[in-house]
Amino acid sequence: MVPQGSLKLDGRSVNCGKRPTVLNSNFDSWGGAFPGFVILNTKKISGLSTAVKLYIYSHECGHQFEGPDETKADLFAIRRGVKWGWLDAVGMEEICTFISTLKGDAVHPPGPQRCETMRNYYQAADRERHQPVGERAGGGAEPRSRRLRRSRRNRPFSNRTLLSSPGLSPPSTSLYCRYFRKFVDARDFARA
Ligand SMILES: [Zn+2]
Repeated sequence: MVPQGSLKLDGRSVNCGKRPTVLNSNFDSWGGAFPGFVILNTKKISGLSTAVKLYIYSHECGHQFEGPDETKADLFAIRRGVKWGWLDAVGMEEICTFISTLKGDAVHPPGPQRCETMRNYYQAADRERHQPVGERAGGGAEPRSRRLRRSRRNRPFSNRTLLSSPGLSPPSTSLYCRYFRKFVDARDFARA
């Protein structure tokens, strides 16, 4: 188990708030999200490009803040990539290439569709970043919709939601990400 703040992916430090990361090479997916910690399958991600690795980690981290919604977790990752500077147009295409091979399931839209959603989001975020502050639409007054989105974004994922959801229901499985609703101690998981 890697405590928060000390995980590096290809030499780049990553963190997910205060949440530790469990590295597990037997996990049946690239990554996963338990309430309170992130799982990465070190073996499965080893051949991927840096941007894709960071995307996977950030997607799992996104579940910590956004809940089970796969699209929201994807966009969380893209937003972080732009903000922290590890995502550029090349990296975005690498993520698209990676994700496009994946089929969808009950909770994951098909890969090509996820690529499309993320790419559009990336392009909008990138445009916004390159626009000088004074030229932004509305001259500083932030549109209500964006303000709302921001306040929603900053709201921590509540434990209440987790507990009220059927704790013992089977995890949502997929080729890519497994999201668990049930609380498990990260140390127990690392030992398992
Ligand atoms: Zn996910």
